Amino acid sequence: MQVNKKGQIGVTTENIFPIIKKFLYSDHDIFIRELVSNAVDATTKLRTLSIAGKYSGSIDDLKVEVQVDEDAKTIKIIDNGIGMTEQEVDKYINQIAFSGAEEFLEKFNNSSANIIGHFGLGFYSSFMVSSKVEVETRSYQDGAQAVKWSCDGSPDYTLEEISKEGVGTTITLYLAEDSLEFASKSRINELLEKYCKFLPVPVIAGEKEEWKDGKMESTGEVNVINDTHPLWTRTPSELTEEEYSSFYRQLYPMGDDPLFHIHLNVDYPFNLTGILYFPKLKNNFEIQKNKIQLYCNQVFVTDNVEGIVPEFLSLLHGVIDSPDIPLNVSRSYLQSDSNVRKISSHITKKVADRLSEIFNSSRNEYEAKWNDLKVFVEYGIITEEKFAEKAKSFTLLKNLDDKYFTFEEYKELVAANQTDVNGDTIYLYTNDKVKHNAFIDSCTAKGYDVLEMDGQLDSHFIGWFEGKNEKTRFVRVDSDVVSKIIAKNEKNDISISTTQQDMLRPVFESQLPTDEKINYNIQFEPLASTDNPVMITQNEFVRRMKDMSQMGGQFAFYGQMPESFNVIVNGNHPLVIDVLSETEKSTDDKYTSLVSKIESIAKQKTSFDAVIKDKKEDDLSAEEKDMRKDLNEKLTQLQKDKSDKLKAIGADNKLVKQLIDLALLSNGMLKGEHLTKFIKRSVEMIEK
Ligand code: ADP
Repeated sequence: MQVNKKGQIGVTTENIFPIIKKFLYSDHDIFIRELVSNAVDATTKLRTLSIAGKYSGSIDDLKVEVQVDEDAKTIKIIDNGIGMTEQEVDKYINQIAFSGAEEFLEKFNNSSANIIGHFGLGFYSSFMVSSKVEVETRSYQDGAQAVKWSCDGSPDYTLEEISKEGVGTTITLYLAEDSLEFASKSRINELLEKYCKFLPVPVIAGEKEEWKDGKMESTGEVNVINDTHPLWTRTPSELTEEEYSSFYRQLYPMGDDPLFHIHLNVDYPFNLTGILYFPKLKNNFEIQKNKIQLYCNQVFVTDNVEGIVPEFLSLLHGVIDSPDIPLNVSRSYLQSDSNVRKISSHITKKVADRLSEIFNSSRNEYEAKWNDLKVFVEYGIITEEKFAEKAKSFTLLKNLDDKYFTFEEYKELVAANQTDVNGDTIYLYTNDKVKHNAFIDSCTAKGYDVLEMDGQLDSHFIGWFEGKNEKTRFVRVDSDVVSKIIAKNEKNDISISTTQQDMLRPVFESQLPTDEKINYNIQFEPLASTDNPVMITQNEFVRRMKDMSQMGGQFAFYGQMPESFNVIVNGNHPLVIDVLSETEKSTDDKYTSLVSKIESIAKQKTSFDAVIKDKKEDDLSAEEKDMRKDLNEKLTQLQKDKSDKLKAIGADNKLVKQLIDLALLSNGMLKGEHLTKFIKRSVEMIEK
């Protein structure tokens, strides 16, 4: 008996398909994933029935075949799975599949935003690319009648009895005019490669081909496109390092060998398997290229794992497979989903445990890879509190002797020698050991240890570390003279008095580079006579603010401020003392009279100030106010005259210029024309 049935699918809209098509346009190649995974599901269901003794036919050759007919412009997805009875077609295809679509339409009729991914349209997605879809199917049940369902995209369908050999389902897509790109074997192979590479049942796409007599020829062997037992589904203890590396190459043929892998295997409170790799990062570009791939029961879903793995782990590579991640919902929903949050924190924990395990069992190997690993660990520390807590035991600090220390070990190393008068332990560091050579020398001369902190995230890491460790500060070696970076309770004598310092200040000022974007601030310090005569430093705090300004936001303001450096003049250096005596010699009678005038005005001002000291501003007479103004102006003017005189003396002093240039040179701050002049001047001075 032939049942010829016609009906209307339960959709109210006249023609639902163009709308779906439009909404899903950007993602329409997923139809292949949906149909092939339905077919795979049908075969695994049949296997389950067979194991349960409910199906007596053979299950030895369960498979899915994808046939592309480029001329007829059709795609067939053929499986030998569970099949459907007429009633089932009615229920699953006519009602369930379409009711999902209807709900979709009701909810999103006029808002196309964010639609993609809200609903797994499953079977229905075939209409995104087809003008007509046929389902020919025969159920596994004894004596089941095969049927053919056919629909051209309007709400009308037909259902008729057919004769069909074997159990299973064949779905035929008649590609629509605007989707003819899919009438191509190579295009479909590309999609199968993307979505179906690890499906658990063999997926066959045509026959294998090989190059023969100048053209590609079929070998007669079926072309199975997938690996049905990908590594992550296997037991870690049975796998070798080589297998992990070769799986990595299978995933990322262009990638370098990874540093470490982590095999994830969870079944409570959610299901998750996967393998994550710590890659060797070459540059930022790489991070973008090889992403973590997310699978759901071996079906590729996406390589956008944002929200599922914590951000710092998105730098990792590899595969995560979980049936428990709600894939068909929006990203914002995903982030608030408690399962997903659990998954994220579980992965974090696993990664931390694995690093800790490698650190404890093979510290040498871990240290050898630390330079590559560091960016992950620091990123994790800065962004994930829980990870930071665990990472404390396996985060390393590296010093200039290339030795590695845990936090505890390092504290132990430097606490005694590098704790200052306030009880703060100072961690000295450099981010450029070549540039800071002179500063490093003066630190090591004191027996201090210097860390190398030249990583991308080191400045953030330092901030984090100081926040967690009270009384410990990182200070860069060039931020001050070493005796002040780690101030100890020792008093050093300075050979030049404060009056002499006042005299020398304008002399040195006269020879400082003039740049309105840079402030120089002269300080006299009681350094050793063997230390450099002049040094240039930049305060740690000022420098950090400047660095932060580059990140914009609330710190951008600091970017507007001029750079500020300290010019440290060594008050005990013989050359500085020479400059002083030369300056004193160069002063003339005019200078001496200026100095005595200043003294006398200053005296007058002191006695006048004593008179008006107790008076309020309003009680001052007009004469008193004039007098005060007059004295102040005179004093300022005289001091300026004195300073100008000293500057004029300094401007003629090549030695001062030379000392300052040497300091700039030592910091890599002497460049261009100034460097050329310095070299010329040096030659002249040597010739003399
Ligand atoms: P989902 O797969 O999410 O359940 P679909 O719209 O893709 O939704 O499919 C609806 C139902 O149709 C499936 O649950 C299944 O019962 C049935 N079905 C679809 N494709 C096949 C197939 N190839 N073989 C057997 N049953 C199928």
